[in-house]
Amino acid sequence: CAAFPAPRKQAASPARLFAPQNERQPVMEELLERLLAECLPYTAQGRLADYIPELAKADPSMLGVYVIGNDGKESWAGDCRQPFTIQSVIKPILLLQALLDNGVEAVQRRVGVDAINPRDQSPYSGHINPMANMGAIVICSLIHGGSYAERFQRLLELTRLLAGDERIGIDEDVYHSEKSHGSKNRALAYLLKSYGLLDDDVEEVLDCYFRACSIRVDCRALAHIGAVLSNRGRLPNSSRQIFPAELARYVNAILTTCGMYDGSGEFAIRVGVPAKSGVGGGIMAVVPTRMGIGIYGPALDRKGNSVAGIQLLERLSRALYLSIF
Ligand code: GLU
Repeated sequence: CAAFPAPRKQAASPARLFAPQNERQPVMEELLERLLAECLPYTAQGRLADYIPELAKADPSMLGVYVIGNDGKESWAGDCRQPFTIQSVIKPILLLQALLDNGVEAVQRRVGVDAINPRDQSPYSGHINPMANMGAIVICSLIHGGSYAERFQRLLELTRLLAGDERIGIDEDVYHSEKSHGSKNRALAYLLKSYGLLDDDVEEVLDCYFRACSIRVDCRALAHIGAVLSNRGRLPNSSRQIFPAELARYVNAILTTCGMYDGSGEFAIRVGVPAKSGVGGGIMAVVPTRMGIGIYGPALDRKGNSVAGIQLLERLSRALYLSIF
């Protein structure tokens, strides 16, 4: 695909919005290459997501990593330019957009912050978390815009800005697959509607959610998003503030407690940084004040997280003392 050039080891294309300094980081790259080689065998232990046919077409043996420091320096290894869909890694961006549009108090009236097993979320208990599907569906309805097309466009623009890549768009095949196999999300959305938690037309809200999950990224894009969150809302190596530092703290805290599905506690112990995973195989990790990390590894563990990706992050965290705990 023209929008995503093949993996390469040279300066990023000048078409990039925020061209990196791209000074080579030989020590860091050597480390990433070594850890990647150590972790590649773990890809065989996972399974592709297959709740929609499109995701089951990925190559389970792929693994890539990209690191962007707050100083703008970039390092990478493996299949880091392979495009994949963002899936649940869009949830922190959805949350940011809703917080920017409505403020913390208004958002908290609809979705909470406490960690809870996503399968136990329910409108009856009032426990809806923005990192679980129900919460993210409600969040879609909180984004400002005259139409749902406009709301999605605003979300896409924010994603492009955070990812440092203005060419980011959606994967139409995955979007159609999500929409035509979306019974579970439809059920959740109608339940929300019946409890008065969704004001708008369910299908319109869901369409925005399915599009959001189908945004196509690569490891660099996820690393860049992580770097902005680690840099308290500022673009790496720049004075441009995208969102207030207070919101970075808010989102990072939720990622720490709820970002890795039911594996969030174990991830906190093994890796120890705020992160969000998606069933497309992506992980976006935030090392506050230091760096953002993007991972691609579509072979997932039983909790829906990239098996080899977590191994890689665990080793990187040990090597560079990344844990915040
Ligand atoms: N599109 C997916 C869904 O809502 C996102 C799942 C995920 O990445 O957790 O079912």
